Amino acid sequence: MSMLESARAQLDSIRDRIDISDETWKILDTPKASLEVSIPVRRTNGSLDLYKGYRVHHNDSLGPAKGGIRFHPSVTIVEAQALAFLMTFKCSLLGLPYGGAKGGVQVDPKELDKHELHSLSRGYISAFYNFIGPDIDIPAPDVYTNEMVMGWMVDQYEKIARSKAPGALTGKPLSRGGSLGRDDATARGAYYIICEMVKEMGKKPPEVTIAVQGFGNAGYNIAKLLFMDGFKIVALSDSKGGTFTSSDSLIPDAIMDAKQQLGIVAEMYCEQSICDAVEENIISNEELLEMDVDILIPAAIENQINMDNVDRIKARMIVELANGPISAEAHIALSDRGVTVVPDILANAGGVVVSYFEWLQNRSSYYWSIERVHEELRERMLVAYHDLKGVQKRHDVDLRAAAYIRSTRRLAASIEAGGTKEFFERK
Ligand code: GLU
Repeated sequence: MSMLESARAQLDSIRDRIDISDETWKILDTPKASLEVSIPVRRTNGSLDLYKGYRVHHNDSLGPAKGGIRFHPSVTIVEAQALAFLMTFKCSLLGLPYGGAKGGVQVDPKELDKHELHSLSRGYISAFYNFIGPDIDIPAPDVYTNEMVMGWMVDQYEKIARSKAPGALTGKPLSRGGSLGRDDATARGAYYIICEMVKEMGKKPPEVTIAVQGFGNAGYNIAKLLFMDGFKIVALSDSKGGTFTSSDSLIPDAIMDAKQQLGIVAEMYCEQSICDAVEENIISNEELLEMDVDILIPAAIENQINMDNVDRIKARMIVELANGPISAEAHIALSDRGVTVVPDILANAGGVVVSYFEWLQNRSSYYWSIERVHEELRERMLVAYHDLKGVQKRHDVDLRAAAYIRSTRRLAASIEAGGTKEFFERK
């Protein structure tokens, strides 16, 4: 099952539970617009390479489309459609005035030097200029794009527009109209929910064991925030592999420092793996996912838990910090076994929530304190979580189904306000 099929299957699973028109289902099942371009980059060795770039608007009934741009070799138009689909429901669930979008470039960014990445980032905006904008579609960082890339991109947007437009992209550097607290927002949103759920279970942080897959912006920051609260981080990994401890807790900052002190930071990305930084207790990503822990946090890429490994997953709770890390079929198997899954469209929504705050700050040219960002993020995340628990109880479903019920209802209200078949056929 592709991620798009998985996402559609998840929406389909709630079809009998809510009363909305067939047209709304049809609209939500189909991306509004998908654009593919080729982006020329003059390489440092003189040759010209063309990279495939994509941008998808899934739906914009609730507001301008919103979603990240990823630089990754596995990016395709279908993957961008699936990720844009998730953004539509994520924004709706959190009550944001946005639709869903996503984009990316099919490239291994670690093979490019800084100049080539700079040129690719500007090339992306030149190619999609007419498809994006502060009131049309607002891109943001995603896998292997960071605030510096967003800074280059907004600069390119403003050059073409011949006017300042900081609200055209979010996740920018602070000095270029970024927001305080955007850097760790994805992880922090999940952190507030995890703390709430652990409190509800009547447990204390030192009694809770956690494994995190992925050591990028989301994975590193969630490990760090939870560690600082006293949770036991028993395993961490990056794309090449990971490490575990059977005694107390790993110290995320110490591992990050060790990775960086090795000195091999290849241009924009740290090339050094956790496995090079720690010499003992090395585990593979597969082994990490199968560890017997209280909470497993997949924070890397999609389809990590699927029908091949779901029977070996022992975690009692899974928090989807990545987009689509569990396939639809594997999710059914986990639900049947009573594993609690906090769905991606809630768990990783902190990033887009603070992107929204950034966009509001850009529009008013009034910048918030870090305390305000944290407080408003916490409130939005917890309101959405408690709301879902109410839906879950009323419909007797799991959290993912509850999340789709809640977000689909909000979308349907907006789509159907313009009239449905029933309205137009009435004499
Ligand atoms: N790429 C992030 C996501 O998947 C953030 C999107 C945004 O801030 O617009 O939610």
